[in-house]
Amino acid sequence: EKELLQTLKGKENVTQSGQVVQLYANIGNTKDVAAVLKNDAGGIGLFRSEFLYLESSDYPTENEQFLKYKAVAENMAGKKVIIRTLDIGADKQVDYFEMEKEENPALGYRAIRICLDRPEIFKTQLRALYRASVYGQIAIMFPMIISVSEVLQVKEIIKEVKEELKAQEIPFKDVELGIMIETPAAAIMSDELAKEVDFFSIGTNDLTQYTLAIDRQNPKLGKINDSHHPAVLRLIEMVVKNAHANGIWAGICGELGADTSLTEWFLKIGVDELSVSPSMVLKVRKQVRETK
Ligand code: PEP
Ligand code: MG
Repeated sequence: EKELLQTLKGKENVTQSGQVVQLYANIGNTKDVAAVLKNDAGGIGLFRSEFLYLESSDYPTENEQFLKYKAVAENMAGKKVIIRTLDIGADKQVDYFEMEKEENPALGYRAIRICLDRPEIFKTQLRALYRASVYGQIAIMFPMIISVSEVLQVKEIIKEVKEELKAQEIPFKDVELGIMIETPAAAIMSDELAKEVDFFSIGTNDLTQYTLAIDRQNPKLGKINDSHHPAVLRLIEMVVKNAHANGIWAGICGELGADTSLTEWFLKIGVDELSVSPSMVLKVRKQVRETK
């Protein structure tokens, strides 16, 4: 089977009736880029940027971040690299952020909430991302969005960052801006959110957790943690519809994207992109190519 998958390298992700889907890979470290290329992914659909903060003993500087983003963009040689901004809090704690202990960290101070509350940290990352944008095809996406107002705040900060870079004569490109759809609020509001961004990437890990009110980290709940729950599937379908009705694309970057028992359904509802762990790319390609 492994050898058979190897023969799929260089082949298109196309069904027998000619429907094409983008197959990208998820990474959590710059070192993972080798696996992305080795498995012939078309791009990086989710670059979890947290590692930069987790492996550092203090806030990573703009230049440290810039060099990492630039390296990934260059190594991917023009293929799309979707970098997700900082998503700490909940299960990912970083000492120097000095966050207070919380009763319900998964519902707490995390991700975009921290970034909007501490814009100096957010701006450092955004400057690094925009500086790296000229070295490849970078896109930026934002985690844990619940409202249009958050997106407008993000865009305002980006406007400032771009004005500052311009004033300093530092080159940058315009990049695609997207959001993760990983809260029920974002899924329900996806018709309005779609008017403000260039793409959606559905984070089914958190979307399942928050829709079913089941802690994704509690092994005791594994049995009832049904990722095929119709409530989750309905939200996914609704998000894709709302994306397309507003002329933007929608992908899936949560674990569910690699579930080959759903590949046919994802294609049927028109999912444009699946981003899976590098080792799953060829397996999903095989499933796509076998789909009528
Ligand atoms: C998700 O929630 O589905 C997701 C892709 O993000 P993470 O697993 O990093 O929370
Ligand atoms: Mg998530």
